[in-house]
Amino acid sequence: MSKIKIMDEILANKIAAGEVVERCASVVKELVENSIDAKSSEIKIELKEAGTSLIKVTDNGIGMDKEDAILSFNRHATSKIKDESDLYNINTLGFRGEALASIASVSNVILKTSQGDVGTLVNIKGGKIVKVENTEARKGTIFEVTELFYNTPARLKHLKSLYTELSSITDYVNKIALSHPEIRFTLINNGNTILKTDGTNNLLKTISSIYGMDVARKMLEINNEDNDYIINGYISLPEVNRAGRNHIITLVNGRVVRNQELNKTINDSYHSYKPDNRYPIVVINIELDPSLVDVNIHPTKMDIKFSKLEELLDLVKKTIINKLNKQTLIPVIEQPINDFDEPVVLEKTIETKIELIDSNEVLPKTEKPKYEEITLKFDEIKEEEAKYEERLPLLYPVGLVHGTYIVCQNEVGMYLIDQHAAKERINYELFLDRLSNPTKDKIPLLLPLTIELSNNEYIILKENFDFLNSMGFDIEEFGINSVIIKSHPIWLTKGFEDLQIKKIIEAVINKEKNFDLSKFNDHLSATLACKASIKANTNLSINEMEELINDLRKCHNPFNCPHGRPTVITFTKYELEKMFKRSGFESLK
Ligand code: ZN
Ligand code: ZN
Repeated sequence: MSKIKIMDEILANKIAAGEVVERCASVVKELVENSIDAKSSEIKIELKEAGTSLIKVTDNGIGMDKEDAILSFNRHATSKIKDESDLYNINTLGFRGEALASIASVSNVILKTSQGDVGTLVNIKGGKIVKVENTEARKGTIFEVTELFYNTPARLKHLKSLYTELSSITDYVNKIALSHPEIRFTLINNGNTILKTDGTNNLLKTISSIYGMDVARKMLEINNEDNDYIINGYISLPEVNRAGRNHIITLVNGRVVRNQELNKTINDSYHSYKPDNRYPIVVINIELDPSLVDVNIHPTKMDIKFSKLEELLDLVKKTIINKLNKQTLIPVIEQPINDFDEPVVLEKTIETKIELIDSNEVLPKTEKPKYEEITLKFDEIKEEEAKYEERLPLLYPVGLVHGTYIVCQNEVGMYLIDQHAAKERINYELFLDRLSNPTKDKIPLLLPLTIELSNNEYIILKENFDFLNSMGFDIEEFGINSVIIKSHPIWLTKGFEDLQIKKIIEAVINKEKNFDLSKFNDHLSATLACKASIKANTNLSINEMEELINDLRKCHNPFNCPHGRPTVITFTKYELEKMFKRSGFESLK
């Protein structure tokens, strides 16, 4: 390969760079994927100023000889794609040959590489080879990229804040670490370690390095397969959720991909276990025959189409729902271990952990994870699943606080039940059952109910008389833009009939164009349940509380109201003792 030919390509490279190398994260991505292709078991990424002044990637891979080292910067050089059909086989990582050339065209790159004997150093700046010489024989490759975008000022201006650059690099490295738990990754910025994984091929440990032990302890392992797909990975308990959907990570044959339907299905599988606008932490690996996917190869993203999508979505949904349905999902109010010696204010503790629902995004962790601790505790995690035969344990009510929370106890600890949320769950499951299995049983109204509507609403409602009849309503026209209702379904709540009828009429009028009966029923059940449920500040007798708890225990999901709020939280005896610093605790320490 002559220098002249490479120089001919400088312009083309700069153009391509615009597409491939947009941000510091794209440089990191290209270099890391090269290291993975080189069969590295250890990859270290060092940044200065979030990569704007230095990106250095060091690996212990197979390295290159002198000829390949120089060739690697040629735009069309690639050892990775042998023919067209390889483009569709996403087992191959770096399928584009132009990435290194593009990076070198807009920065100053020093490449040091060796296959174990005399190493090669190549220095390229702005696409021109500045220097090629022999260097030390450390097996592997080191890429140092400085002065990024020095000759493309527009691109340089385009860079976001250092924080944004760093967070997108962190996001990328997290994902690649999750897809390669067998590789030891280190990410450092300005001397601070942001991520360090141990490369022992333990996905849960990798999750722990990224999200911390608290989250890792609340991850459930999943495994399932059908004729075409094998899925495995970890899903978070519903109480662990985030404001963004960025923590749903899907891998196909070990490669991070994006597929909206898949993400949506994963989130939908948690429906009513958590608020729909909060997202779980999920890492799912899908193994399949590469011929079943179609990859849209855009340099900066990885969209994927599955040829048997419905089947895959079914499998994923079934697997997650089955897993969640077997768990006891009562958030435990814990005191952070580190704060043990400080005086503990009860309210404060509740606040810190109850933000389970409201906490903001977790920023990249900068402190070093504690490895000794992780290895000690890890084997215990799996055992913690399925501890209870009954999903909601037996609870004995002792009183009511603020007319809102039922205080209960059993041998394990103290529980608080939000009576509105609990009643809402019970009603919701009742209504959903009745709506999904409609009968013609109805109750005549002593005083028929007339409802006046706007002309528009009236027209829509008239079209839905059959639908309402099938639910158990007797509904007829009654003068101009009015209807009269003479009987209603048997399952409406006593005392709330008129209100609920109006809510149902309203829901029918506002039915969406692409009407989905099960979604409609689900939404209507939640609305009716909220209206029919005890308002806070209603004093229940102990008998009524017992009845409520019994009904709750019969629920399919006793742990959340239909909107995903928790119905019950617990303070274990252990946590209570810890908080009161009782003597028994000393020996536990
Ligand atoms: Zn409500
Ligand atoms: Zn609710």
